[in-house]
Amino acid sequence: MNKRELLSLIDVSHVYDHHRQKIKVLNKINLKVFNGEMISLIGPSGTGKSTLLNIAGLLEQPTLGSIYISGQNCTNFSEDNKTILRGKNIGFVFQSHRLFQEFSAIENVMIPQLIMGSSKMNAEKKSKELLSILGLENRFNFRPANLSGGEAQRVAIARALANSPNLILADEPTGNLDPISAKNVFKILYRLVKSLNISCIFATHNHDLAHLMDRKIILKNGSVED
Ligand code: ADP
Ligand code: MG
Repeated sequence: MNKRELLSLIDVSHVYDHHRQKIKVLNKINLKVFNGEMISLIGPSGTGKSTLLNIAGLLEQPTLGSIYISGQNCTNFSEDNKTILRGKNIGFVFQSHRLFQEFSAIENVMIPQLIMGSSKMNAEKKSKELLSILGLENRFNFRPANLSGGEAQRVAIARALANSPNLILADEPTGNLDPISAKNVFKILYRLVKSLNISCIFATHNHDLAHLMDRKIILKNGSVED
């Protein structure tokens, strides 16, 4: 299988300015992510995992360095172009599901597709397919409040996959789940990354899950150890 570089961070450094205090978080990070790879990102709380994922996902501008997505340098894209690129290429999953409470599971998966210009019919069809792959064929019309934590995270994964991204950035997606649900959500995501031949960076404190992934990146004192 040919390897494509989906994400590349080159000499990325990040410093937060907080009330005139400089908080150095990332120091010259270099990282390449290829298709078909599931990578764990581990490190204690406060080491910059979320910062790294936000920079990789073009949600945050790094203080220094460059971000390439599918070979294209996106570092200095306009906000509008970043939004388009994110919509097409990147799916996000967070620790708390961040689903819209007033919408059903299927509507939550349809919304990003409608935003990207899909017809309602196509969005509905794709949402049903994705939710079914995630074992939620009996939960289409449930609102988040009526789903278990693991089910809600699976809806969040379906939503992240809605526009067929090639990169999933998952920020402690199993952090709020019990060990069995955590493993289940991880396994489903892992299988999807492999079958779709996309890639995923998965931040976690769970070393058992990290061992099951293809690569482990440890964030420590602003640097990565691969
Ligand atoms: P992690 O996800 O590994 O817990 P974060 O990336 O959230 O780490 O945070 C890394 C460091 O940067 C922490 O010390 C945090 O306090 C600081 N930080 C995060 N966001 C901001 C911000 N917007 N302004 C100032 N400091 C921040
Ligand atoms: Mg974090």
